[in-house]
Amino acid sequence: EEVLQDSETDRNIIKDKEVGSGQVEQREFQAETRMLLDIVAKSLYSESEIFIRELISNASDALEKFRYLSLTGETVDNPGRPLEIHIGTDKINRTFIIQDTGIGLTNDEMIENLGTIAKSGSKAFIETIKEGKAGIDPNSIIGQFGVGFYSCFMVAKNVDVYSRSSKPGSKGYKWSSDGNGTYMIQEAEGVDVGTKIVVHLKGECRKFSDEESVKEIVQKYSNFVGSPILLNGTQI
Ligand code: ADP
Ligand code: MG
Repeated sequence: EEVLQDSETDRNIIKDKEVGSGQVEQREFQAETRMLLDIVAKSLYSESEIFIRELISNASDALEKFRYLSLTGETVDNPGRPLEIHIGTDKINRTFIIQDTGIGLTNDEMIENLGTIAKSGSKAFIETIKEGKAGIDPNSIIGQFGVGFYSCFMVAKNVDVYSRSSKPGSKGYKWSSDGNGTYMIQEAEGVDVGTKIVVHLKGECRKFSDEESVKEIVQKYSNFVGSPILLNGTQI
């Protein structure tokens, strides 16, 4: 029997903020995204831990993009903040949380980048599935193509993305989905510049809310990340 530890793990991870009273907008995923999510969510791909690699890589990209903006003299919100990736595990709430202080997403960027498939890897994946090439098992090629952000739906029953763009004057937004065809977006109060992703894990994927297990995985995938990564407040 697993012993649950105190839910102290939100240290250095910003708490889920009160969501503003603004309108909740429900939107449908683009057809291809829906198809991709369907496969990913039902996947029995054994290396589901790669979702951590994908989320770290996105966080790292977001920080690099922000660095670039700062260097090119672009006006940005909160320019002096530490550029870091914070990962949190919470066994009690069965969550895996990753937060970066990077470039963030506007409302439109959330719709564009988290609702449609722009990424070449995901497109190729869908094409291969559509063509129905004989003998191809979707489960076996998820890792090969790399389905980016969507890979977290392998392990999640729900994903919340809180983000605020570094573009001056941007508001914070919460994006939320169970991967079943639709997602919601609403304005959210108190979101810091950057992005926080809260992965609410499926029961059978609870190991990704265990600090020791996550630590090993993060160490495996953090070699080429140019920003500090902290796990439950301690640098890895
Ligand atoms: P890729 O990283 O190859 O572009 P992903 O599916 O991993 O594809 O991510 C899709 C898009 O979502 C990214 O290109 C980016 O625009 C946006 N995105 C994902 N994670 C973040 C993040 N942490 N911060 C800012 N934007 C993000
Ligand atoms: Mg990516």
